[in-house]
Amino acid sequence: MIDIVSTVRGISWPGIPGPFISQLLAMQFQLDRTQWLTAEQIVERQKPQLGRLLAHAYDTVPYYRQRLDEVGLPPAGIQGPDDWRRIPVLSRAEVQAAGERLFSASVPAEHGPVSKLFTSGSTGRPLLALGTGVTQLFWNAFTLRDHLWHRRVSGGRLAAIRSLPAEVARPPEGIRSNDWGPATAGIVDTGSAATLNIHSTVAEQADWLEREDPDYLLTYPSVVLALTKHFAASGRKLPGLREVRTFGELLEPQIRTAVRDSWGLRVVDMYSSQEVGYLALQCPKHEHYHVQSEGVLVEVLDDAGEPCAPGEVGRVVITPLHNYAMPLLRYEIGDYAEVGASCPCGRGLPVLSRILGRQRNMAILPDGSRRWPSIELSGREDLADFPPIEQFQVIQRSLQTAEMLLVTPRPLTPAEEERLRGWVQEALGHPFEISLTYVREIPRSKAGKFEDFRCEVEQVGSTA
Ligand SMILES: [Zn+2]
Repeated sequence: MIDIVSTVRGISWPGIPGPFISQLLAMQFQLDRTQWLTAEQIVERQKPQLGRLLAHAYDTVPYYRQRLDEVGLPPAGIQGPDDWRRIPVLSRAEVQAAGERLFSASVPAEHGPVSKLFTSGSTGRPLLALGTGVTQLFWNAFTLRDHLWHRRVSGGRLAAIRSLPAEVARPPEGIRSNDWGPATAGIVDTGSAATLNIHSTVAEQADWLEREDPDYLLTYPSVVLALTKHFAASGRKLPGLREVRTFGELLEPQIRTAVRDSWGLRVVDMYSSQEVGYLALQCPKHEHYHVQSEGVLVEVLDDAGEPCAPGEVGRVVITPLHNYAMPLLRYEIGDYAEVGASCPCGRGLPVLSRILGRQRNMAILPDGSRRWPSIELSGREDLADFPPIEQFQVIQRSLQTAEMLLVTPRPLTPAEEERLRGWVQEALGHPFEISLTYVREIPRSKAGKFEDFRCEVEQVGSTA
């Protein structure tokens, strides 16, 4: 699959790459090997890198000097995991409040240009993060690893439906480029890529996809689900499609099932975030995820702040290893995940068996227990005689009440409403009092994301 474009005049084969591609290939050469290290060997290699990052944060970031001094933890004091866990967990709200005090006063020149990344955040409050040439290199390296892991074919056409500024890549045309971007250009002979703005209707997306006839579709899980329904209803097909790739939202198991049933294809999901890059990629052989430990330390912690064992669910706390412009030490990203046992594929990279979604997508029951509801309406057999529910969103308003927004071609009868309430109560795990509100459309968030369920009850115990 590797097909290097030579930058030396007169030489085409084997290709001699320029400096950017050389770095990326040198990284790939290492990643090919480090994935087979044992879990213990990976921890051993992360340790000195974490020590360097911590020292850099303490020396050059005012916020960390104060924070680490407060817990009596100068970097020299970190000897092992117990010391590491004395570093207080950093919440998103703290990152927002700290602002530029989290920026390093001295980024080594070799880390390349510092760039600003604004994350849109579904809560509406943007978060300003910094990246460097080095963090960009790692982003590209893990993107390339994902393509190699999943053996994407030469010449394959990629169609992406993603969140972009409103005026960019609008339907019906979207925009086209000759390659898939810097992670592959000049290294892998990909085909062209086409992009459509997510702020388009399902019908526009379907028409665009039919014209583009892609090998690969990359978009949010909720878009995939809507498209499978749309194509099923219209009887149309995407004959060239080989694989569906998802990112940006929780991938519910039913979406994998829907794609398998309607298109006969598998879904490859990735777990990443704008401010910290890749956290985990789907195993080439299984549907769970491998933490990208060469780039990030991922801790999954229980309510007491202790690491979860395989099978347990906890808060995801991350430390990107190489961001020297805005070091984030033990940043609580707001997601929950289930720790998995080591993977039979032989890779030592830690396993997350499920990503359970964000805290705000978690229901809180009156007894204080919490769960991520999976409200599945399209697959129910007893829904056959129901008017189609085109869109819905359930919002938990209090410990006893929830509101369900509905888009249907006609209002439901009282009997239908009662059945619907029953299904939602079953999914939520409690007989909430559910009010139904009929709307014309349920908009996506500013970030282009869509949530089936959102909780507005004050969440407690979320940050250390
Ligand atoms: Zn694996």
